[in-house]
Amino acid sequence: MPFAALDPVDPLNLEALLTDEERAVRDTVRQYLDDKVEPHIADWFESGELPVLPELAREFGKMGLLGMHLEGYGCADMSARAYGIACRELEATDSGLRSFVSVQGSLAMFAIHRFGSGEQKQEWLPRMAAGEAIGCFGLTEPDHGSDPASMTTRARRDGDDWILDGRKMWITNGSVAAVAVVWAQTEDGVRGFVVPTDAPGFSAPLIKHKMSLRASVTSELVLDGVRLPASARLPEARGVGAPLTCLNEARYGIVWGVTGAARSAWQAAADYAGQREQFGKPIAAFQLTQQKLVDMALELHKATLTALRLADLKDSPAGVHPAQISFGKLNNVREAIQICRTARTILGANGISLEYPVIRHANNLESVLTYEGTTEMHILALGQALTGHAAFR
Ligand SMILES: Cc1cc2nc3c(=O)[nH]c(=O)nc-3n(C[C@H](O)[C@H](O)[C@H](O)COP(=O)(O)OP(=O)(O)OC[C@H]3O[C@@H](n4cnc5c(N)ncnc54)[C@H](O)[C@@H]3O)c2cc1C
Repeated sequence: MPFAALDPVDPLNLEALLTDEERAVRDTVRQYLDDKVEPHIADWFESGELPVLPELAREFGKMGLLGMHLEGYGCADMSARAYGIACRELEATDSGLRSFVSVQGSLAMFAIHRFGSGEQKQEWLPRMAAGEAIGCFGLTEPDHGSDPASMTTRARRDGDDWILDGRKMWITNGSVAAVAVVWAQTEDGVRGFVVPTDAPGFSAPLIKHKMSLRASVTSELVLDGVRLPASARLPEARGVGAPLTCLNEARYGIVWGVTGAARSAWQAAADYAGQREQFGKPIAAFQLTQQKLVDMALELHKATLTALRLADLKDSPAGVHPAQISFGKLNNVREAIQICRTARTILGANGISLEYPVIRHANNLESVLTYEGTTEMHILALGQALTGHAAFR
């Protein structure tokens, strides 16, 4: 019996592994983004803004994308696979969209869901799930990135109240957030606080001049004697392990998300190579171009297999080990950025134009390579897991 033609976009038939529900998530998110976002995303990237944010947040809320893998409080309570697939489609359009959803759901909402009081959960999670309240997550500081345990933002007691002083840097969603989850040193070590952004002494100036994640809001957080009631502290968060648990959630979304950016770049390069003629034939017919397209496809689909495996581990009773997430984040981001850079070469001069998605994805992935633990940090985390020796300091 003759074989059916290979699907160039899915040569290993990995989409056949998805359930009907997961395919429905994929197609609903894809359709929405194709209709409402794709026609504008290059302009938003160029102008360095996400001008539709309050409306977009509500639309994402209606689609169940905010806190998608969390239970209760209006969250969709879907599988890790479904959440990953949504991240993939979002990032196939732009890493800025996936970053928005990751920070809202996996960082800000997850922190409150996992470590918050009943009152904090009731107050914030339903509105955040609906996209009516945007959240941010303030861990990084100007002088403390990869080593957050050394943070200098302080929370001190004043009677029953807490007073927060310090600065956070590179905070996604900061300037548009209604609530900030802020991590600070206390006499008892690192603790988390739920800070309404209209609290006196809180401000979130926008960070400008970014050449990456331009369709995403990135801000500084300034905490200048911000007074909070005792009830603002996340009661179950103790030590720097608490924010790291949240980061692990967001990294899982990145493992999937970057396969979307890489898929988009591969597709753009393959289409271009089929149409662009030089020396009398399509550049896809040259061996050197084919080698690029084949190598890109191998890494893209190996990355998807890694994401699928991590999803199944995450959905299993044993769960997924943080070092396994490091495996996925390290491999998939590193390969995705290489795929985008190779795709750019296939497009020649057009590769540097925003008329095509490739350079935008490549530039965005420079941020993704750095945030949620740099490549180097994940090498060290995996190195420790594999050898038993910590080489961080
Ligand atoms: C667009 C964007 C959005 C972001 N959003 C958020 C957010 O919402 N919330 C938040 O809290 N943070 C956010 N970040 C911050 C991000 O998490 C940090 O930038 C990241 O953790 C790295 O910290 P750093 O930039 O201070 O680099 P550094 O930690 O100063 O690292 C600089 C270089 O030194 C290397 N290095 C450091 N230590 C070692 C070591 N022991 N061994 C070998 N190499 C080492 C690093 O790998 C890196 O290559 C965001 C960043 C960007 C770019």
